Parts: sequence; structure tokens; C-alpha cells
Amino acid sequence: MSRYTEQMFSALTLAAALCLTGCGAGAASTDERAEEEFESVQIGEYEAEDAAFTGHVHKDTGTSGYSGTGYATGFEEDGDSCVFSVQIPEDGFYDLRFYSTGDSYKENYVSVDGEAAGSLVTESAQFDVSSVERVYMAAGDHEIAVAKYWGWIDLDRLQIVTAEPIDPGIYEIPAKLCNADASEEAKRLMSYLCDNYGTKILSGQYCDSGPAGKEIQVVKKVTGKTPAILGLDLIEYSPSRAEHGSDSSATQFAVKQWEDGGIVTFCWHWNAPSKYLTGEWYKGFYTDSTNIDLAAIMDGRDEEGYELLMQDIDAIAQQLTILRDAGVPVLWRPLHEASGGWFWWGASGAEAYKKLYVLLYDRLTNEYGLNNLIWVWNGQDAEWYPGDEYVDIIGEDIYPGEHVYTSQVNKYLQAVRYTDPPKMVVLSENGCVPDPDLMVRDGAMWGFWCTWGGEFAAKDMAIFSYNDQYTQEDALKRFYDNDAVITLEDIPDLSAYPIRE
Ligand code: CA
Repeated sequence: MSRYTEQMFSALTLAAALCLTGCGAGAASTDERAEEEFESVQIGEYEAEDAAFTGHVHKDTGTSGYSGTGYATGFEEDGDSCVFSVQIPEDGFYDLRFYSTGDSYKENYVSVDGEAAGSLVTESAQFDVSSVERVYMAAGDHEIAVAKYWGWIDLDRLQIVTAEPIDPGIYEIPAKLCNADASEEAKRLMSYLCDNYGTKILSGQYCDSGPAGKEIQVVKKVTGKTPAILGLDLIEYSPSRAEHGSDSSATQFAVKQWEDGGIVTFCWHWNAPSKYLTGEWYKGFYTDSTNIDLAAIMDGRDEEGYELLMQDIDAIAQQLTILRDAGVPVLWRPLHEASGGWFWWGASGAEAYKKLYVLLYDRLTNEYGLNNLIWVWNGQDAEWYPGDEYVDIIGEDIYPGEHVYTSQVNKYLQAVRYTDPPKMVVLSENGCVPDPDLMVRDGAMWGFWCTWGGEFAAKDMAIFSYNDQYTQEDALKRFYDNDAVITLEDIPDLSAYPIRE
């Protein structure tokens, strides 16, 4: 949704970087396996003090522990950067290991030949390493830049090492759902997703107005094809919106999409109960527009609040029940982007959020018998992971800017490492669509993408018209034409798809 995208841009970057610190257990075992089979080879080391500088960046020697003759410092204002000219011997994937220090957590931009490659995360008071993983570089000369985002770091040096190959095991995902009573439809859909995971990518598009709505129609106009997945939102069914006259046909749109042979995903911008709204009622999913204390509710210090949340869940369960009874399986992504904190369900920290997630899972699964749900967890930080028994798929939301078609392999691999063994990882929301050729090349085989609605697909005008501000028309057509991409036209009859356990 465009009205809160801007906030997401900055906060998402931060959320993604913070999770670097929390990817413990899964990463360890992957690394242990890798140690047996793979040893990275250093192919270059470059001192920052010998690199090119822009803006306020300069050489200094006041902080001890550096290598070479000093380090680069002075990352103070936008445009301040340190640019390494590097030579790469052969085409391939490389990890960029930066040694830096700062007085507290800092994040700065890393780009390769002008294209965003990830973030340099600095969190140590001594010079320490932080990697941007799996950057593809062709043989020859390249420019690797560290540019000010938060600034205020000392940058000592850059090592370039060969990247660990992708373990093909990360794509071998069991189709078994966490709900032991999952419906046949849900099992068939998950089996289909698992059978394609690692080789194919499903296309997806959010469109509030359903399969015949604006965003779907403009994508069809540009590409000649229909997105495999229709993204919808339960937002308007939230009681605190319904009491202001909000209305929705999202459930009916979902039934139609399924009848048309497509797949449905739902998020829920949960508008908080009216009691807690402090700003405009229609912004009631934002932390800033509410005074709800989720920790108090989950700790039993606000019993009325607990009852109000249960009433909201009841309203949502009624809609999901309609879908269950119509035999529609749902890629269900509640309580999304929690760790960012910009939505109220993420504003009281990880523990309160996890309690609410588990409570929601329990109510919808065990009380309402919603066995048509495939649970997509979108907390975006390993510390916020509620447990394997509540999660089927891991979703990441990424808004990289305009015309940025990189595969986002760094974030993909981070998400793969949230769990051990890995779960299916999908791009549950995106602005720009990543290039499927780059996903295949980089091994960032997101199970699907699902472009957000509004400006990310369509112009804000009555006539249905594609907006190329984020993904250009020719790029979108090329992506939808890619052999690795599944559109609605490619989907077999899922009601008869063989169940794989
Ligand atoms: Ca140095």
C-alpha cells in the first residue's frame, strides 16, 4: 500500500540488517557442513586508506587495531564514500568481507559498480568483520563502494573471498504442513509449491479489487499473462474499520481467483480495536496511530484488551471460514513485518508478538478448524520466529527502490538460515520485481514474488494504466516470459494435484 511504503523503505532495510545478528542455530550447522566441503579462497585484500574517497572521508590512524597504514573515516553526510578498485580473476560469486568499527550498531550501503549489493553492518568497538555474501562479479575490474547511510564508522579493509556454493538441500523442502489436520486442498497446494521450489518461481500481484481489478489487468496488458498468485488483505474486515462503514469483497475475490485456477495469499493489516486508536481510524494498524500495549495484553494485565483482540480474530475467522467451506487454500500471512515495529503487533517486542502469533495460530487452527491455511511467517528477524510447529513458509518483504532487479540473494540466504532444516522462503511483498534470470544465477530461488498494489503496478488514475516507476514495462514482460516463472496459465488443476508428504 503506497501510503505506508515510504516508512517501510527505511525500516525494512534496518530490519533486514538487524537480523544478521540473530541467525544463530541454523547458520552454525550450515557452516559446519560447509567447513567439511568448502574452503573459501581469498582472492584480494584492499586497505581502505589506499582506496578513493569522496566527501568527508579521509585517512586516519587514531583508532588502534587496524591493518596497513590506517583506515578510512569521516562517513558523515550523504555522498561520503570509500571506493575500492578491485580486480576479479574469473567470473563467479564472492563474499565481501569488510573490517570496520564503530561506537555502536551502524549500517552503511555497499554497492558494486553502482548497484546496491547489501549493507555493511558495524557493531563492534574493535575492528571486526562483516560480510556481504554471494556477490556475482565477472572477471575484470570493479568498483566496490561503501557509502554513508548511518555513517560514523572507521573502515579498515576489504577482503574478497570465493563464496560458498549454494547447498541444493535448501530447496528440498518437505511438503508436510505444521497443522496435522491440514485440509486436502492445503496439502495439494503445498505439494505443488514444493515440487516447483528451487527450479521455478511463481508470479504474484496484490490487487485489492480482485482478479478483474486494476493491478492484475495492467500486468496482463503489459505481459499477456496473469499472475499466478493474487494478493489480498483482510484489512477492511477489522471491526474498528467495519464500524466506520468499511466494506470488502476480498473473500469473494479469493473464491473467484481459486475458481479461475489461481492461488490466493492474504495478509491482514489488523486495525486495532477502537479503544486503542489515537489517530485517524483508518491508520489503526500503525504503531503511531495506536496506544495498544500488546505486552500488557499478552501478560494478562489488560483483560479487556485480550477480549477485544479475540473479537477481532473472530471477525477474521468468519471470512477465512467462508474460504475453507469453499475449498480455497490460503497462503496466510498474518502479523506481517513485525520486527520493524511500524505495525502495533511489532511494537511491544519479540516476546509479546510471538505470544500473539501462537495464540492466533491456536485459535484459527484448533478453535475455528481453519485447516485450509498455509502459515506464512513474515516476522523478518530470527529472534521473532515463533517455532517450526507454527510456520510452513518464511516470507520476506523487500522494497529496494526503483528499477532495482537484483535477486536479493543476501536476504534470501538470511531467511534460509532462520531455521534448521530450512523452510521454503518466498518474497511475500516486493516493490520492484527481481529478475528471474538473476534469481536462477544467484541461487536465490524465492518460491514466489508478490508485488504490492497501487503505484507498484498501476498509475493512480481511472484508466487502467501500468506504472513503470518501479518495474519497467519491458522488464516486467521479460520476467513474465521467463521459462522459470509460473503464471496462472501454467498452473495445473490443483484440486487433483498429488499430495506429497
Ligand atoms: Ca587499513
